[in-house]
Amino acid sequence: MPTSSPKSQHVLVLNSGSSSLKFAIIDPNNGHEVISGLAERLGSEAPSIKYKYKYNGTKTAINLKANEAHAEAINTLVALIKSHKLDEHLIAVGHRVVHGGEHFIQSILIDEDVILGITQAATLAPLHGHANLLGISSAKESFKGLPQVAVFDTAFHQTMDEVAYLYALPYKLYNEFGVRRYGFHGTSHCYVADQAAQLLNQSLEESNFISAHLGNGCSVCAIKSGKSVDTSMGLTPLAGLIMGMRSGDIDPGLFNFLTTQLNYSAQQIDDLLNQESGLLGISGLSNDCRTIEEASLSGNQRATLAIDMFCYRLAKQIAAYMVPLQRLDAVIFTGGIGENSDLIRKKVISQLAFLNIDCDEEANLKARFGQQGIISTKKTKIKVIVIPTNEEWVIANDAASIVKEL
Ligand code: ADP
Repeated sequence: MPTSSPKSQHVLVLNSGSSSLKFAIIDPNNGHEVISGLAERLGSEAPSIKYKYKYNGTKTAINLKANEAHAEAINTLVALIKSHKLDEHLIAVGHRVVHGGEHFIQSILIDEDVILGITQAATLAPLHGHANLLGISSAKESFKGLPQVAVFDTAFHQTMDEVAYLYALPYKLYNEFGVRRYGFHGTSHCYVADQAAQLLNQSLEESNFISAHLGNGCSVCAIKSGKSVDTSMGLTPLAGLIMGMRSGDIDPGLFNFLTTQLNYSAQQIDDLLNQESGLLGISGLSNDCRTIEEASLSGNQRATLAIDMFCYRLAKQIAAYMVPLQRLDAVIFTGGIGENSDLIRKKVISQLAFLNIDCDEEANLKARFGQQGIISTKKTKIKVIVIPTNEEWVIANDAASIVKEL
């Protein structure tokens, strides 16, 4: 079993998706993970939990009963934590909450009012919001007396100006129903910006960055003087870049075409844009960037097209963010693709040569598999940096800071 010094403090971080629950116990002081895992296919015929002890790498899988969901997964997790005495140093539970609406501009201790606020914001992202609320209520029940903290994916972007966040729709839709751009991946953009400033040995408050979080979901954020001033995702995480299965930006006129010409229902359109598009839709192969890269290398033209479209859209979005920033210190790559794909990084950077940025081949190849680094050549003023993200650590850290204030 993992050993901890008597003074260790740990935070249980929970990230509830619609049919999954990611969890980790983390030391907020140094980001070390004691245990991490994933409960998946919740509510289906064959739900399961897989977890890994970081100290010795042991991996274990537990099958849950058919149809068991978040509450049962958390109960199993609690039993696991208690049986291994991992609860002894727990000081808080930190919840990743996808949508905080306009109400939540920073992480917060969860009480009844906060639950009400999260419930209201959940109307903007029902699937995620419902799962987040389930995670919170199950954890409250199972860890009675332990402070629960909500950390919002949207909070970092609440510094955007209305010029950036409003849609050119009737103002009433914003005023009465909160229809606007919110942006997501906030904890990741915030974390990598902070790390990049440290790497460049400059203060975050004086730093201008463009960060590209490229995972299954992808977003770009323009960060001016350490604050988010624009981001590519919108009311929902569907907007902006091409992603694994999501289309990103499309012509809204497509809705009319699909409904009137092809008889699509609203649900079918939602599925099409969220689950059948992006890298998967173009390549016809997979949403997984590794598979697409391998297929492209073996001559699959649709895989090559998917990569080229992905990189073109990303480069265009990065270039567009020179408008709010005017001056740029660094482009940051993060997320599974950003942290690992030297090919995607090289293709994107090569299209931004007019900004006088470039790519050092050797450094680009080296900055993979958890390795951070500056991948631009020494002669360029604007740097290109790879920073492995660590959203769990941000959540643990925020939760520990809030608990300290109690
Ligand atoms: P999530 O958004 O679910 O957290 P990740 O950040 O783990 O996702 O990113 C998953 C993506 O990263 C997948 O498309 C995967 O193919 C890609 N990826 C991981 N490793 C590599 C690699 N070595 N080369 C290219 N893509 C990679």
